[in-house]
Amino acid sequence: MSWITVLWSINVGACLTLAVMYLAVWSRERESWLYLIFSCIAAAAAFIAVFELQLIRADTSEEYGAILRWRALPVWVLVLSLVGFTRLYLRAGRSWLAWSACSLKTLTLILNFVFTPNLYYLEITALRQLSWGGEEASIALGTPNPWSLLNQVTLLLLLVFFADATITVWRRGDRQRALIVGGTTTFFGAIVMAQFALVVWGIIQAPFFGSFAYLGIVVALGYQLSDDAVRAAHLASELQIGEERFRRVVEAAPNAMIMVNQEGQITLANQQAEKTFGYPREELLGRPIEMLVPERVRSGHRGFRHDYLCDPQARPMGAGRELFGRRKDGSEVPVEIGLSPIHTSKGLLVLASIVDITERKLAELEAARQRHDLAHLARVTALGELSSSLAHELTHPLTAILSNAQAAQRFLADDDVDLDEVREILNDIVTQDQRAGEVIHGLRQLLKKGEPQKHCDDVDLNEAIRDVVQLMRSDLINRNVTVDTDLAQNLPAVTGDRVQLQQVLLNLALNGCEAMGDYNSSERRLLIASQWENGAVQVSVADCGSGIPEEKMQQVFERFFTTKKEGMGLGLSVCRTIIDAHRGKIWATNNAGCGATFHFSLPIVGVGKQAVITD
Ligand code: ADP
Repeated sequence: MSWITVLWSINVGACLTLAVMYLAVWSRERESWLYLIFSCIAAAAAFIAVFELQLIRADTSEEYGAILRWRALPVWVLVLSLVGFTRLYLRAGRSWLAWSACSLKTLTLILNFVFTPNLYYLEITALRQLSWGGEEASIALGTPNPWSLLNQVTLLLLLVFFADATITVWRRGDRQRALIVGGTTTFFGAIVMAQFALVVWGIIQAPFFGSFAYLGIVVALGYQLSDDAVRAAHLASELQIGEERFRRVVEAAPNAMIMVNQEGQITLANQQAEKTFGYPREELLGRPIEMLVPERVRSGHRGFRHDYLCDPQARPMGAGRELFGRRKDGSEVPVEIGLSPIHTSKGLLVLASIVDITERKLAELEAARQRHDLAHLARVTALGELSSSLAHELTHPLTAILSNAQAAQRFLADDDVDLDEVREILNDIVTQDQRAGEVIHGLRQLLKKGEPQKHCDDVDLNEAIRDVVQLMRSDLINRNVTVDTDLAQNLPAVTGDRVQLQQVLLNLALNGCEAMGDYNSSERRLLIASQWENGAVQVSVADCGSGIPEEKMQQVFERFFTTKKEGMGLGLSVCRTIIDAHRGKIWATNNAGCGATFHFSLPIVGVGKQAVITD
């Protein structure tokens, strides 16, 4: 058999086999258009080879002209498919180049059928039998058609397009694809173009054999596609292993782990999630995540979910809010939730890591209760210091009431009762009683234990200062301490527990008095001042006492630190706990002249969000 027939037949067979193979693959994976495009390229290359063989075997110039004309059809399919393949597979190549080349190629195809015999020859005068490797092959003798230059321009444009795509992919770092797909197409494309032009313009005398260059392109593209398929299979198996590992890690996690898809359906739940929420896994999978959200907040949850999907980042959920989950029995469980987005081939999934914080909440409550008890104890102790002065404070109005009442009795015993006198005596009794009542009221307020405060009031600190000074009035007189106040006008309110803040003021004032105990009575001055700036109210209690050694400045706030014989070392530590719970600051400084000043600052209402105060 002729070697020409054998070679071209092998070429056709190889191309057709690849075309059929990839057509079959595409029919199973319809969304992979690349396989269909490749199948078209291989089929077109096979047809081109068939036409080339027929050209070699042509007997007449008419036959030759007609075959060459029809050969343009598979070439057109091949060119368009190659451009499509390059754009889709390499995601490179300028689109204007692609469009121009394809449009021009279509134009040349049309012109090819307009001209007789075809676009390449104006006329084919004769066929020449060329001895080619011991065999005879027909080649055309005739006048080339100048319009065939348009075909050359088209092919040149195509080469530029392929070269541009190759460079882009190379720069991207994907060298294998750049070389195998881009490089091969450009290289073999250039060979086809050169050979075709040289033959048509009669520069070389040889039959067309461009189909072997096309075979080179088909083999290169086929190799790359199968290489991709092998890698994809490898990756898939690795992914499967990875997914299995991921599932095992999630299962073994100490927290409840729940994965949710973009529709909010649960796609994965671990054993701990079953325990936390009381649902068996099969009742969770495929169900909306909202089933684990308490009814009272369920409606808002969808909105939160939507917001998260718009900006998916690993972060804790509901910053600053207390979160609760809903168990199967309808009860609520306090939780902390961390969210992590997981990008998968099936879209975005969100992994929620849920920690049941019931135990921690109970421990916090217990600690708060203990702090509350301690604060109360410290308050009672501080008031104990005032007890003898308070007794005196009460004795005075009671004595006045008694003597007024006795005077009234005497007046009433007279026949001629002076009612105006009696009225005056009664008014005096009421005033004295009110004074005693105020003292008792102030004391009761501070002595009562109450519950750890959940609700906060707006507190006017100037008023609180005046109340404390009033309560300490007789104690201050007994200690020979003069109190001055320098209170800011229009002081904004702070949010908090009035009794606790009064306790702080009382502690600081008592400490100040005690620090001045060893000094001359003329030097015993206490200055309580209030001011506000930068969104906070600041109160200071300055004394003229011993001051605080610099190295003890922090230590004085520690629990059980005391330098007093009878001291408990609780006062300042309780003050700090109270101020901390009010999101404020407390500190001490030594005065330039003598003594120390204790300062505390608290955020003005509406400036700092107030936490729940739990002593
Ligand atoms: P206590 O009054 O029972 O000692 P505190 O916590 O109120 O407990 O005070 C701790 C210590 O801080 C005091 O013992 C004292 O040494 C020091 N301190 C407190 N206030 C003053 C002050 N105004 N001047 C100097 N030292 C002070």
